[in-house]
Parts: sequence; C-alpha cells; structure tokens
Amino acid sequence: MVTRVLASSCAVLTAFRCWSASGHLDLYWIDSEGGGSTLIVTSAGESVLIDSGNAGVRDPHRIQHVAADVAHLDHLDHYITTHFHSDHMGGAPELSQLIPIQNLWDNGLPDGDPDGNVGSGWPLTSKAYRNLPVKERHKVVPGSVIPLRGDHLKLACAISRQQPWNTPAWPISKASLPAGQPPVKATDTSDNANSSAWVLIWGAFRFFDAGDLTWNTETRLVEPAVLVPEVDVFQVTHHGLDVSNNPWLLRALNPTVSVMNNGSTKGTAPEVIQTLRSLPGLKAQYQVHKNLRSNEGDNNCPDDHIANLTANCSGNYIHCDVSDEGATYKIEIPGNGAKATYTSRRK
Ligand SMILES: [Zn+2]
Repeated sequence: MVTRVLASSCAVLTAFRCWSASGHLDLYWIDSEGGGSTLIVTSAGESVLIDSGNAGVRDPHRIQHVAADVAHLDHLDHYITTHFHSDHMGGAPELSQLIPIQNLWDNGLPDGDPDGNVGSGWPLTSKAYRNLPVKERHKVVPGSVIPLRGDHLKLACAISRQQPWNTPAWPISKASLPAGQPPVKATDTSDNANSSAWVLIWGAFRFFDAGDLTWNTETRLVEPAVLVPEVDVFQVTHHGLDVSNNPWLLRALNPTVSVMNNGSTKGTAPEVIQTLRSLPGLKAQYQVHKNLRSNEGDNNCPDDHIANLTANCSGNYIHCDVSDEGATYKIEIPGNGAKATYTSRRK
C-alpha cells in the first residue's frame, strides 16, 4: 500500500500520511524516444504506469529513474499496457527486474501476432512479457476502473479493443464538434486500433491517454454519441502520427494543454500539429522531443516547451504537478527549468 520510499526523515509508518497530506497528483512523461511511458502518482502515493517504452535497457532504466529517484516509489501498484506493440510493452520485462510491479492490466495477450503477421516470431518475442513476474493480471474491458484510493479520483477505460464504454461515469463533453461527419481513413488492421484509452479524473482535473488508438476507432468515441469528457491535459495520441488524432475526438476533448511523447524523427506529423493549433481551448503544447525532420517547416512548439532538443539526448522528462485537489496544475521540464501553471477549466 505504501508506495513511496522515504526521501526525508519521515518514519516509514508516517510516509503514507506525509504524502497523502501533500494534496498533489503527479504525471510524468518519461522519454522513451517515441515510445509510450507515462507515470501517474496519486496524492495517496499509489502509482500507475501506462506503457513501458521500448525493449532493451534504456527505457526501463529511464522509467526506473523517474519512479525511484524522482517520485520516490519502491514499486508500481499498477502497470497498463495499452496495446501489444514493442514501443509500449517492450520495456516491461526489464522494468519488472528494476522495480516490482503489482498489477498488470492489458487487453489479454493474444497467442498469435497482434497485427496478424504470420511467422513474426510472436511466441518468442512475447515470451518475457507473458512471464512477467506480477502479483495479479487483469484483462481490460471498456469501463475498467483502476482501484485507487482517494476522494474524487478515478482512472477508467474509455475504449478497449475498439469497444467504447457506452455508459461512462464522467460528464460528457459539450464542446462543439466540426460540421458534418468525421472523415474516414484507411482501415487500420494493426493492434494500434485496439489500444485502450484512459481518462484520469482528480477533482476538477482531467487527463486523457489513448496509447496509439487510430483514426477510425477514435471516431467511436464521438459517433454516434460523444463518450468522452473535456480534459485539461491531452497526451497526443500515437506520438503525434497522423493515422491518429482525429480532429472530431480532439475537439470533443477540448484540452487546455497537449503533451506529445514523440521521438526526434517519429510522430509530430504536420497534420496533427495543425489540428492541435486549431483547437479553440488549447493554451500550450509540449513535446518530449524536438522534431528534427528538416523538411517540414515550423511544426515544433517553442524550444522551452520541449524536453529534448537533440537526437543524442539525456532523456529529459516532462512533469505535471496537479495540486489543490485538481484545481491547478504546473507543467515543468526539470531539464531546462521551464515552468508554467494552469487552472483546471472546471475549477
Ligand atoms: Zn507507439
């Protein structure tokens, strides 16, 4: 239950009270170079990691560094894999050796390649994940709620395996959508389309993370009925690729701040940048990486809102410190000293 290692002289038995009295909830976008790895630490000190970055040692060590050295965690209470691609699930086996994982949540690991590729070696490549040393495994369904302690706190699944939660327990967005019907893109037969999407609510504050959910499946969250709330912080879906980030969904989410977990040459698609810039309520964009593709003109946010400006980087993270029971939140990049405070829209 007690999740944070003491950083001060607080005795172990008082650690929970120290943190629960802090009145803060923290979000960290850890640099997995175009993978997904978002850490949530609640005001009660419970932790949820959404996706574990790439396989190898780099991303698990970056996650472990933020979890242990920055957030003072000695284990992860919950780990969610949004879908079975290596940039989201690859780091889990190595990470589980660095920091214990209690509960694993995923869509149910398939026996065959999740993208339907024959002869991909899936049984072998997924073996370490299949054998993850966790206490309990849970299959995500639409409406799954991660059990977290705390008043006015909820982390729930809005869509999983292309099935939306049709009776969501949050106030539905009333933001105006573009006219007409949402446009359709080429059918995505990959596991990206099966990504689980998560809404985090703490008091007035709301956050949305949809892994790599793709365009036509995103439409199911707004047609025939809008099923998402308006949010304060939006994790740009799929690293900012334009097979995701359907403007109908983004208009419904109506975020104040966007955070893109892109890589130096991955994501940050010009179409997505244009969509973000057109959102009526968006006040600030952040990127884990500067897009270094040279032929796309001005498609980065200002340098001080970017955690890593070069390809050969030190893996700086972005931190969101939500305080006052969700009334305000500060986004900071410790690597460059940037800080800005925002007020939750529903305060
Ligand atoms: Zn991805």
